[in-house]
Amino acid sequence: MNREIFITQLQQQAEWDVVIIGGGATGLGCAVDAASRGYKTLLLEQYDFAKGTSSKATKLVHGGVRYLAQGNIKLVTEALRERGILLRNAPHVCHTQNFIIANYSWWSKLYYGIGLKLYDLMAAKLSLGSTKIVSAGYVLQHLPCVKKQGLKGGVVYTDGQFDDARLAVNLAQTACEQGATVINYCRVAEFIFTDGKITGVVAEDVLHKKQYHLKTKTVINATGVFAAMLMKAANDNSASIAPSQGVHIVVDKKHFAGTDALMIPKTTDGRVLFAVPWHNKVIVGTTDTAVNNTTIEPTATGEEVDFIINNFNSYAAVPITKNDVLSVFTGLRPLIKKEGVKGTAALNRHHAVFVSPSALITVTGGKWTTYRKMAEDAVDKAAEQLHNKNKSVTATLKIHGYTIENDISYLSVYGSYAAVIEKLWQGDERLKEKIHPAYPYTKAEVIFAVRNEMAQTVEDVLARRIRLLFLDAAAATASALSVAQLMAEEMQYDESWVQTQWNDFIQLAKQYLLS
Ligand SMILES: Cc1cc2nc3c(=O)[nH]c(=O)nc-3n(C[C@H](O)[C@H](O)[C@H](O)COP(=O)(O)OP(=O)(O)OC[C@H]3O[C@@H](n4cnc5c(N)ncnc54)[C@H](O)[C@@H]3O)c2cc1C
Repeated sequence: MNREIFITQLQQQAEWDVVIIGGGATGLGCAVDAASRGYKTLLLEQYDFAKGTSSKATKLVHGGVRYLAQGNIKLVTEALRERGILLRNAPHVCHTQNFIIANYSWWSKLYYGIGLKLYDLMAAKLSLGSTKIVSAGYVLQHLPCVKKQGLKGGVVYTDGQFDDARLAVNLAQTACEQGATVINYCRVAEFIFTDGKITGVVAEDVLHKKQYHLKTKTVINATGVFAAMLMKAANDNSASIAPSQGVHIVVDKKHFAGTDALMIPKTTDGRVLFAVPWHNKVIVGTTDTAVNNTTIEPTATGEEVDFIINNFNSYAAVPITKNDVLSVFTGLRPLIKKEGVKGTAALNRHHAVFVSPSALITVTGGKWTTYRKMAEDAVDKAAEQLHNKNKSVTATLKIHGYTIENDISYLSVYGSYAAVIEKLWQGDERLKEKIHPAYPYTKAEVIFAVRNEMAQTVEDVLARRIRLLFLDAAAATASALSVAQLMAEEMQYDESWVQTQWNDFIQLAKQYLLS
């Protein structure tokens, strides 16, 4: 992927078949789908790929046990199918993960045991392993950190886990391999209309402050929490957004030994909470709080962090405190209210595709796990507008980096491209140097992110190519200057770029730190 080449393509293409706005899971999925159907496809993202909600998920590839408890069979069945497809097509960034529900009453052991057996059955051929009802001894062996007192046993089930931002970058690469042009830091500023229908967009290259007037036959709005705003710009006022934020904290593995995840089925506000091992740390979350502002970098409140810590501690043998938190990250759920559609919750869980009178196609709701199906449904609408009903082929399309080789090193998320990083190490001893002494990441991954993954800023590297900001915000802060200097050398930027990037990153990282 090369941004300069893509900017040239932007200027040369007389008319696009599909322009996709938004480079999160949904938009990138649409780009893969549209390009692999043979459409001339352009994706524009105003920041970096997955800068929005798509880098701030709980990292589960799941059917949604919570939705099963609510009796939402159709939603769970669809998500379980997509879970299976994703694990099959992107095994380098997605893997199976055992979850344990620790039960402190016989009744809950039976209740969750039966419920999760059903969850398994619903996955049918794409089941990841059978649910087991286990003893207290088993639970303590696999989750040595949970409270022993009163423990009656547990239920073990299998779901999927993934690296969200890395999958997003891999989707961008897959879309390019299929012929799409994908550009980060390129905002759609307005629509161009002909006789009331959208026939183009005005795109703004944010990095070089240049505008482009682009012609297109169809436009897909995949802007998550910004979707209603884009609909308004397309003269459709039928939707509004009511975002709800979800917070996660990240703690060291010493607070949660073992490789299994804990699922807390009922928090004090009646939700579920997970503690999931991830890149050698543990993510604990999430929350659900209605907020007024739609912003790309939402921040956690003290109450939300307390809520997570208190609910985790109600199961933990040794309680954690705020001092143990290495990073806090927050995402916004796109709760969209649409005239004629009842409630917001329904839209949140199910995905929906609307077509505005100006022909703008908006796809929203759903979850990361179902991004592929959401994209298929949105591109089906574009296909109708194009009068060219090529069918989606993404159910069997392998994602960039696909490999079934079982690499157990931290480079496994690069899949078949891990060898390129190893080659960088062999070619230049300096690139073997770590960017932080406590973490395995080396300078080679920074160079790789610039050359192959369209990283433009220090944040792109430390937040979404290497996930250090999410794992340990203080360590990411400490690495920022050397990463900025290395990038400047590679991209031929001057000292003032280094200073600006360093300062910008430090400001951002403060939001991920508790103190
Ligand atoms: C707290 C939380 C936890 C979650 N956990 C999970 C989980 O474990 N598993 C799961 O399957 N799902 C999970 N989800 C759901 C999942 O993360 C989202 O459904 C998904 O990321 C939404 O992707 P999106 O592409 O629709 O939106 P986004 O990722 O927000 O992408 C929209 C993009 O549009 C861009 N954009 C906006 N306006 C413009 C413009 N004018 N021009 C160009 N670009 C623009 C934005 O910059 C943004 O990058 C979670 C969600 C939350 C909030």
